[in-house]
Amino acid sequence: MEIVLLGTGAALPTRQRWPSATALIRPGEILLFDCGEGAQIQFQQAQLKPGKLSKIFISHFHGDHFYGLIGLLTSLQMQSREKPLHLYGPHGLNAYLEFMKKLSHFTFGFKIMVQEVRNLSEKKVWEFENYRVTARPLHHRITSLGFRLEESPKSGRFLVGKAESLGIPEGPLRGKLQKGETVVLPNGTKVEPSQVLGPERPGKKVAICLDTKPCANAIHLAKDADVLIHDGSFDDSKRDWAETTGHSTVVQAAEIAREAGAKQLVLTHISARYKEEDEPELLEQAQRVFPNTILGHDLERIAIES
Ligand SMILES: [Zn+2]
Ligand SMILES: [Zn+2]
Repeated sequence: MEIVLLGTGAALPTRQRWPSATALIRPGEILLFDCGEGAQIQFQQAQLKPGKLSKIFISHFHGDHFYGLIGLLTSLQMQSREKPLHLYGPHGLNAYLEFMKKLSHFTFGFKIMVQEVRNLSEKKVWEFENYRVTARPLHHRITSLGFRLEESPKSGRFLVGKAESLGIPEGPLRGKLQKGETVVLPNGTKVEPSQVLGPERPGKKVAICLDTKPCANAIHLAKDADVLIHDGSFDDSKRDWAETTGHSTVVQAAEIAREAGAKQLVLTHISARYKEEDEPELLEQAQRVFPNTILGHDLERIAIES
């Protein structure tokens, strides 16, 4: 998997940062988390293929998280998209799309399937092939969803040495064992996958929590995550302002990462008040609490090795 930060700003687009949008590249598809203004431009800048876009998750209906959606969808239509597109978000997403279609007398030539989270008292889980995405409500000024993508556990590594000692010839038999199938060797011996595979490997986990104050659900979503992307709107001297506006400081984001046992923290949703020269201070504040922190920049790519 690879994360591409398309927009790492908050509220206002600036010359350095577009508003929120994060792409997650998986085998054969691209998932987009939030679609702030300029997301489609950044999608092009990052040289991502629009045809690969399969799912868009919207956290909440503040403009810096979804004002890019209708533009992106319209562009996909103009590119003659035929493949369905799946949208996920809070209640209201469907009504918004219908309103925009009606206002613009616009119809899409591809199917848009919308799934809204209506019950905020429990987590919502969407199961897909090889992974699942969980949504939980965060703590913001309006309903805001955090997301966690968790890959299914992967089968253990193929142990060539064991295969050799069992006399399994190179080729399709080894492939079948790797896929978890029992095989029969030419000499009639039956071999189970467990005889040649190492221990099952846990799938990778990515959590995306914005916009939010520090909250328990952010910790649930980020539990043991390989990467946590978290609202880090302000430096820690602005705790009161973060509380008032429903955001987190970089230190609060770091505390969430530490509490959740995440492996890496990516700070995003950086307020436009901070200039490039302020960034080392922001990063240092967070790193004092959670050393493996990076401060995200637009078009930065983060690989998650499987
Ligand atoms: Zn925001
Ligand atoms: Zn917001």
